[in-house]
Amino acid sequence: MSHTLKADHLQATVARILEAAGSSPAEARQVAANLVLANLSGHDSHGVGMLPRYVDAVAEGGLKPNAAVRVNLDIGTLMGLDGQHGYGQIVGVQAMELGIARAKQHGSCIFTLAHAHHLGRIGHFAEMATAQGLVSMHFVNVLSRPVVAPWGGGDGRFGTNPCCIGIPLSGAEPFVLDYATSRVAQGKMRVAHNKGERVPDGYLIDENGTPTNDPGVVVVPQGNGLFGALMTFGEHKGYGMAVACELLGGALTGGGTWHRQADTARTVLNGMLTVLIDPAKLGTQKSFDEEAREFVAWLRQSPPGQGFEEVQIAGEPERKARSARRKDGIWVDDATWGEIVAAGAKVGVQVS
Ligand code: NAD
Repeated sequence: MSHTLKADHLQATVARILEAAGSSPAEARQVAANLVLANLSGHDSHGVGMLPRYVDAVAEGGLKPNAAVRVNLDIGTLMGLDGQHGYGQIVGVQAMELGIARAKQHGSCIFTLAHAHHLGRIGHFAEMATAQGLVSMHFVNVLSRPVVAPWGGGDGRFGTNPCCIGIPLSGAEPFVLDYATSRVAQGKMRVAHNKGERVPDGYLIDENGTPTNDPGVVVVPQGNGLFGALMTFGEHKGYGMAVACELLGGALTGGGTWHRQADTARTVLNGMLTVLIDPAKLGTQKSFDEEAREFVAWLRQSPPGQGFEEVQIAGEPERKARSARRKDGIWVDDATWGEIVAAGAKVGVQVS
């Protein structure tokens, strides 16, 4: 049986479990709201389905409830921050609040954030910046399991390393480009495997490095006990972006890069380099507003291509999903709901 739940109800359930797992009521509410917003935005892979993993990570000791961001370095427009293994939905927001204030004051701010637990949907942070009229760029690495293969390689060597660019558009909703550098999300392969589906060419290699259409290769260990791997998007170009995210989000921040065999830990750590720019301070606000508006209007005049209704800009699909799902509810598949119920039971919360 699957479940379609209203956002408020789902959020309250998730918050109860987070609180029982050790979070203060305010932290539990904020993390739950962030996860539900990811579901509302159409990104179920980064929504409430992450909760069981968080509960396990707290028990493992890799995720620390009620931790706050620590400032290691502060020279005005450059800050070195440490998430201290706190919820990414908390320390990521704290880091952005600090960075946004600095960018408003000085015109720009660059900050590194190391040792954040899973930051969730990176677009959330870009939306915080664009709401204040700021441009923001984010490069993120993932310390969890090496599920993505380097271009020309035959096994997984790094995570789904997301990157994100937010640009405010005067008088209109912002451009929010936000994606994993893998060709497709790992969570989508699990769904395809459970349905017994095959996936298109170019998504996967098997445990021997051979291209395959079987999503099971990244879901269950294969004959030799190894997993296959996801490919990067855009062939060598996406691969280059994934490496840049690892070097900037992992090495430059001090959070560390992935260079070891996979283990079974449930903890997911992210490192993030963020660049914030205030167009008002740069002195180009007027022309920026005009040129951006003209360019987006020009894009939208393109006639729809085959199979499309219209040209959209990044950020629009998420906004459309939000208004539909707020009205119709959020669909949670049976397997995910079962895991949430089990996570609740681990911390003494009965979910009905
Ligand atoms: P995706 O492939 O769905 O791409 C999403 C991006 O493409 C969005 O910016 C969206 O607005 C844009 N887009 C989609 N359709 C469009 C269209 N028709 N026209 C114009 N733009 C369009 O996303 P994904 O790669 O599956 O990533 C999903 C989420 O996962 C992201 O929010 C990302 O931050 C997150 N993520 C997080 C981590 C982590 O460790 N924290 C790791 C990987 C991914």
